[in-house]
Amino acid sequence: MSKQNFCPKLVGSMSQGAAGNPTVAMVEAAFRHHGLDWRYVNLEVAPEQLADAVKGARAMGFRGFNLSMPHKVSVIPLLDGLGESASIMGAVNCVVRRDDQLIGENTDGKGFLRSLQEVVDPRGQHVVLFGAGGAARAIAVELGLAGVGRITLVNRSAKRGRELADLLGGKLKLSVEFVEWRGDYAIPADATIVINGTSIGLYDGDATLALDVSSLKPGMVVADVVFSPPRTRLLRDAAGRGCRTLDGLGMLVNQGVIGVHYWTGIEPDPAVMRQTLEEIFGTQKS
Ligand code: NDP
Repeated sequence: MSKQNFCPKLVGSMSQGAAGNPTVAMVEAAFRHHGLDWRYVNLEVAPEQLADAVKGARAMGFRGFNLSMPHKVSVIPLLDGLGESASIMGAVNCVVRRDDQLIGENTDGKGFLRSLQEVVDPRGQHVVLFGAGGAARAIAVELGLAGVGRITLVNRSAKRGRELADLLGGKLKLSVEFVEWRGDYAIPADATIVINGTSIGLYDGDATLALDVSSLKPGMVVADVVFSPPRTRLLRDAAGRGCRTLDGLGMLVNQGVIGVHYWTGIEPDPAVMRQTLEEIFGTQKS
């Protein structure tokens, strides 16, 4: 009988509020489906313990780990290097061990882009993006790297909005306009892609964006980063007006797909991962 290996390869996630993060179920479903002896451990880590936790992960041979709130920026000095988009946006949500170095990547925006590209090529398009927080920042940078034509950035806080607009116009030389969000915003007629990158709608399927819904036109692609619930009020309104819709589960699944690929080298089956999330959220594909 050949010698058995009782040591699985380890990856995981570090965050505060880890109990509410469904990523572990999705990633472990992929490991099981592909017969990989890997484990994804969902770890509750307080900000003052992050440095020790990263040191521990190095010592225990973790192949990588995800980072969620509130560690995406503070982890950077603890790493050995950054990928291109993580370096531009100054935030890391996925660490990959490469030749014993811990390299910080950002898969949030890449995950979003991959689900968007399944329905439309953003190159040359005019995108309206609501929000300027972590998710919106990641999405805007990846859209810029993918060759988007123009971004209209709509945010409540002018300071955050302008900072992101300056980053996009400066580092990425993008054509970007910032609009301070006051009252119902009307989508410009030449916009083809509309994205909610705010947390409006999270855990509240009836929450509405301050938006003139009649400015949503058939043929527009309307996407939401919110994944709980997946069928947000924005997506229901958009579908009712003949728009194509993309829910936040697609982004969550694809950032997981990219992370698993970075760590293991395999291309995991997104359907298995999405199915797991749909079972958790009790929903059907949008
Ligand atoms: P942040 O806290 O960094 O940013 C929140 C954004 O939402 C800001 O732009 C904020 O505006 C805006 N906002 C919040 N409430 C309101 C409101 N009432 N009116 C107007 N604007 C508002 O959060 P994140 O960017 O990290 O996360 C945003 C959402 O994205 C969350 O719901 C999160 O779950 C989701 N997400 C989804 C992922 C996925 O894979 N599907 C991945 C990552 C995040 P202001 O600047 O004015 O405060």
